[in-house]
Amino acid sequence: MSQFYFLPHTSLDDLIHYLKQEGFMVKAPIVSEGAIVYDDIEKAAELPWGYIDEQSPAHYKVTKTNAKAAFGWSLPVQSVKPMLFKEKEKLWRVKRDKNGTLQFESCLNKRKYAVLGVRPCDLRAIEIQDRVFIENAYQDVRYKVRREAMFIIAANCTTCHSNCFCISLGDSPFADKGYDLAMTEIDHGFVVESGGDSGRMLIEYLQLQVASGAQTHIAYQKVNGVYGKQNKSIPPLAQVEKALFEEHDHPKWEDVAKRCLSCGNCTQACPTCFCHTEKESPSLDGKESTHVREWDSCFGLDHSYTHGKLYRDKPKYRYRQWLTHKFSTWREQFRTKGCVGCGRCITWCPVSIDVTEEINIICQGTNK
Ligand code: SF4
Ligand code: SF4
Repeated sequence: MSQFYFLPHTSLDDLIHYLKQEGFMVKAPIVSEGAIVYDDIEKAAELPWGYIDEQSPAHYKVTKTNAKAAFGWSLPVQSVKPMLFKEKEKLWRVKRDKNGTLQFESCLNKRKYAVLGVRPCDLRAIEIQDRVFIENAYQDVRYKVRREAMFIIAANCTTCHSNCFCISLGDSPFADKGYDLAMTEIDHGFVVESGGDSGRMLIEYLQLQVASGAQTHIAYQKVNGVYGKQNKSIPPLAQVEKALFEEHDHPKWEDVAKRCLSCGNCTQACPTCFCHTEKESPSLDGKESTHVREWDSCFGLDHSYTHGKLYRDKPKYRYRQWLTHKFSTWREQFRTKGCVGCGRCITWCPVSIDVTEEINIICQGTNK
């Protein structure tokens, strides 16, 4: 059985100090340009104290309140994804030496991150990306090095936004695995539990007291209360998978295509999307070249370019590909689902396309 401890708000600076002393760059949510985003922090005062967020289709807003809570909001704009799978990264550089021989130089960035406040859906998204980048036929060395060095402090959800639908996917607002330390915010601090030796060492360093029964109960009730707050849902995944296979010609695909701008916002905001492209970037004098990898999107016109042909030349095919991969063929490919129900694709779609609405309609079939 887990042992719970109490971490007072006033000890957050000691926690950050410990992580820095261990050689981590500490990333945590902050408010920047009207949004809650992960950034480097030096002290607890930089956290989004008192802030709450509001998310609905194509709508996002943060508001400052008088609440003395650092995690009273639901979900940051971007997930942990860019810390592990960078949006743009140099893979290698090549130069010609004085004898004309090509010399390759690796550009591996071995930075160690400690991330404070990872929501349970984002933890599950990391688990999904682990399947893609590590537990696969080919391993991505960059992702693997950063993943193995990452220290994760999860923050259980005590609220959710109106686009969340993790519960209908069989997930929950509780972090269940994949963290070093998990915390739930209550008045004046957090109820915390360790996920292994690294978390236990941190608890010992901070000399935390065992949480009282009342504190543990309040923490549990706050997270459990999220079950009654989620309004969006999709049918069971087995039903969704079947419908997506059977409804290739559903009129809904045309209907979405009339609205979809193929902007790719949904894939950029999604914590599990992993499509990328690689490019060679030669210097102007032709003496050296850098090989770069950057995020791509299946909504891009040239993403399906193969042997002189665009296989998905219409938005209808691109949206269908994205949805079918996420909610159906992903399982076949990676032995896991491709969505964690974070709702970011709904919030950040500029034309309010809502994946839960589209799935529910497609699951009703064409004859109903
Ligand atoms: S598909 Fe949408 S809801 Fe699912 S993980 Fe991606 S952004 Fe979140
Ligand atoms: S579904 Fe929305 S966010 Fe995604 S590509 Fe289309 S318009 Fe952009």
